[in-house]
This record gives sequence, structure tokens and C-alpha cells, in this order.
Amino acid sequence: MTQDDMIQRIVIVGGGTAGWMAAAAFSRVLGAMPGLLITLIESDAIGTVGVGEATIPDICLFNNLLGINENLFMRETGATYKLGIEFVDWYKKGHSYVHPFGNYGIDMLGIEFHHMWLRGLSIGDNSNIDEYSIATMAGKMERFMRPDVNQPNSPLSKFSYAFQFDAGRYAQFLRRRSQAQGVERIEGKIVDTLLDSQNGHVRHVQLEDGSKIEGDLFIDCSGFRALLIGGAMGVGFEDWTKWLPCDRAVAMPCAYPNGQSGADSEPLTRSIAQPAGWQWRIPLQHRIGNGHVYSSAHMNAQEAEKILRDNLDGEVLGEANHIRFTAGHRKKAWVKNVISLGLSGGFLEPLESTAIHLVQTGISRILTLFPTRKCNVKEIERFNQQSIEDYVTIRDFLILHYKATSRDDSEFWDYCRNLEPPSGLADKLAMFESSGRVFRENNELFTETSWLSVMVGQGVKAGGYHPAAHLISEVETKERLRHIRGVIKQTANAMPAQADFLRQQGAIM
Ligand code: FAD
Repeated sequence: MTQDDMIQRIVIVGGGTAGWMAAAAFSRVLGAMPGLLITLIESDAIGTVGVGEATIPDICLFNNLLGINENLFMRETGATYKLGIEFVDWYKKGHSYVHPFGNYGIDMLGIEFHHMWLRGLSIGDNSNIDEYSIATMAGKMERFMRPDVNQPNSPLSKFSYAFQFDAGRYAQFLRRRSQAQGVERIEGKIVDTLLDSQNGHVRHVQLEDGSKIEGDLFIDCSGFRALLIGGAMGVGFEDWTKWLPCDRAVAMPCAYPNGQSGADSEPLTRSIAQPAGWQWRIPLQHRIGNGHVYSSAHMNAQEAEKILRDNLDGEVLGEANHIRFTAGHRKKAWVKNVISLGLSGGFLEPLESTAIHLVQTGISRILTLFPTRKCNVKEIERFNQQSIEDYVTIRDFLILHYKATSRDDSEFWDYCRNLEPPSGLADKLAMFESSGRVFRENNELFTETSWLSVMVGQGVKAGGYHPAAHLISEVETKERLRHIRGVIKQTANAMPAQADFLRQQGAIM
């Protein structure tokens, strides 16, 4: 490989969360490559989507890769900790459950804990699975500390955590780091794109003022506009509306009531099912992020906004932000020398906070398959295949929340309950319903704990459990379950309040 084959200029189109995450990671990892210039173009006039506040634990890996000090990051972005998602009214009205980060119970006899719990249910132990998750119990008690992997036998080693942060502040935080690491930022609106007549690669993008920005590799982070991947390259969209009918959101942050602080709240994101969708509640340090995701085939925008306004904790901050989207993804994430990241590449509603994670996965995949100027077909194909697998497995997990419900109080829920699940989800449901087994397939994002929490939480009934659960007597099974619940409760109770932990760490903004 000669110097001429090497990528000399990466152009990132768009400065939302996706654009600045890409800029920060590329400048950190590739910054020392000789002659490499990284440029990010963004338009203040267009702005960003302005939502996206809840994350999943892998974000910690991303922040570590960037060498970010966690306490500084928490202060700068008004972040709180997140130990899982509480789903309210999803299975039926008045019911709630938590999808926790981490595991349930402990491994017993080398089989997964939940088989022991299922056996317990069959012999009259009516405990709730939430009681076996340290993340759930601590979350409900408003407690937090970082996990302690040095105590493998303690519940303290059995959870992980993520953050709830102000996405605008996060992008600004990453922008400062990226610029300090040498990223050039250009403010301007892109109005045109020139393709090379020989190889079909993008040669340059043109701004409103006539200037042309040339590049070897273009990362399309232009949000739902998908300027390059959809516009210049004309890549089509795989539409999953039939499985995920929600196609609108209205977002509206609010203040905490009575001078309350976000640090005092539960370190949990909340998702509350509504007649034609669901509402999110994300407690940050300085405000609460709220939004209502709904199906426009079942509800209009005014009604959706009213439901949201009627269900806020405190005074509304700013205007309602109405957003349209389609569930699905670009048929190809990478074409020629254009790679899409973030909303330009697709969107799955934020029910499990996966969008920022998909940006992160895309970035690490680009770094792994980083091309030469030619952009090899093999690398492109691998990237595209893996990106689609990510979308498909997350899609199936999201559909589970809608499909497995007993709600029959609206046309929307009737539609969801009766929808035909994709084959991957149908298999998982059939396996659990016949034998109580849950599998994480291949390299999918969500673990057995995640699948189990939502299946159990949404009322899917296990048809059995692992035969080895019978090796322990009924009395002993009940006694062990009682003991584990007790240890978990006691451990959660001994953890500091989230507010105290944030204060101790100097992480309050
Ligand atoms: P954007 O933020 O839209 O940024 C696009 C950028 O492109 C902007 O800088 C814009 O100025 C620029 N641009 C566009 N056109 C041009 C042009 N012509 N010239 C120059 N610049 C241009 N994710 C999560 O992980 N957790 C959540 O809780 C979550 N909640 C969400 C809720 C909703 C309702 C929605 C819609 C998304 C949510 N997301 C969430 C997703 C998350 O917001 C996005 O994945 C993330 O913000 C990345 O967005 P982006 O950077 O791709 O796009």
C-alpha cells in the first residue's frame, strides 16, 4: 500500500450526536495517521434533531475509548445514571416491570438462575423476578454506585450502568474534544454534491457560499435528511412500519417540581404505554426529558401533544418539538465512499435507547474495516451485512414489547397484539413458551436477561424450565430463592443514594 492509496481526508457531514461522536473517535484513534485531515460540516441554521438522551451500558466503552473522565462528563452534560428502563402499563394498565442492566440472581448448578425461579413459581413461590436484580432494586430505591467486579460473589458485580444526558451538551462536549484533537469544523449548508464520473465516488460537497469541500471518505451524519446516502447515492429505505407502526414523536422537556433535583430521582428511564404509543421520561440533573412516540394512523398530533402535556411532572421548558420518522434502515449503510451513521442510516424508535448505540457500533465497525481510497467491495459488503443484522435483532426485541401485551383498550393495541411477528422473534417466543429457555443469538445486542425481563414483564408464560432445577428439593429451592432476594435487597439498601454518589464524585453540574 502506498501513501497514495491511503485516505487523506475524511469529511463528516453533520454535527449532531452522530457527527461529533464520529469526529471524536476518528481523531482519537486515527489522528496520528500521516497527512490525515478530518473535517466536519454542520449547519447551525438547520440544527440537530434535539432529542436522544437515554443510553445503554456500552456507552461507557465509547467514553473510555475517548479517554473521557466520567465525573467531568456527568457535570458537563447534566447526566444522571441509568440502571434500566421501567415499563409502565405495557403488559396491562396498572402493571410495571423493569428491564435491568445486568443479571438476575446467581448461577445455580451451572444453569441459568431463571430456571430456578420458574420452578419456584410452579411450587408456590410467587416472588417477582424484579426482586432478583440488583439494578432494579437499587433503581427503585434511588440508589447508585459503580459495580464492583472484584467481588464476584456479590450482587455488586452483577449489574452494569449507562447514562441519561443532555444530547445537545454531549455533542458540544465532544466538539470541544474533537477540535482539540485537530478536527476542522466548517459551518455552512451543503447544497450540492459532485460524483466522480469514473468510479461514482463523492468528490466534493458544495456549500451555499460556493465553497467545495473535497474528501476521500464521506461519513453521512446529516440526520433524517440523509443528504449523501439517500440523496447523492440514492440508496432506498427498508420500511418496517408494519411491525413498528409508531411514526411520530413529540418531545417536550420540563422542570422538576418544587425545586427538586434530578440527582434525587430514580436512576431509571421510564416508558409509559399510552393509547397509541408510549411516553418517555428521562430524568437528567437539570430537567426531565419527555416525549410521546405514537402512530399517526391511530392518533393526531394535537391529541398526542395533549396527552404528553397532561402527564408532565413540572413546568414545560421550551416549545413542543414534533418529529416524523419511519422505522427501518437504509438498504445499504455503505456505498462507494459514503458511509451513513446515525439517523441518516435508519431509525428504530427509542424504546430501548438503541440509536446512540448504533452510532457507536457503526464507528467501531468503520475503524475495524477502515478502507483505502478505493474502498474494497469485500469490506463494504461485510459492513452492510453486519449493520443489517444489528437492525434486525434490535427490531425483533422492540416488537416483543408491542406483541406481548394483554392491552385491548385501543385500535392501536389490538393491531400490535395481533401482528404477525418476524421469524426470529416467533422462534424466541415459541422456545420460551415451550420450555422456558431464552437464547442470545449470534452477536445480538440484547442478552438473555434482556429478553427474559421483557418476556416475563409482558406476561409471556414459560411452558417449563430446565430439568436440572429438580435436583434441588422444593424446600431448598424456596429457601435459596428467599435468601437471594434478601441478599439483593440488603445490598441495594446499603448502596449510596444517587444524589450522594454524584456529590461525592464531584459529578453535579
Ligand atoms: P441530527 O441530530 O439530526 O444531526 C444532523 C446534522 O446534520 C445536524 O448538525 C445538521 O445541521 C446537519 N445537516 C443536515 N443537513 C445539512 C446540510 N444540508 N448542510 C449542512 N449540515 C446539515 N437515541 C438514543 O440513543 N436514546 C434516546 O433516548 C433517543 N431518543 C430519541 C427520540 C426521538 C424522538 C428521536 C427521533 C431520536 C431519538 N434518539 C435516541 C436518536 C438520537 O437522537 C440520534 O440517533 C442521535 O441524536 C443522532 O442524530 P444524528 O446526529 O444522526 O442527526
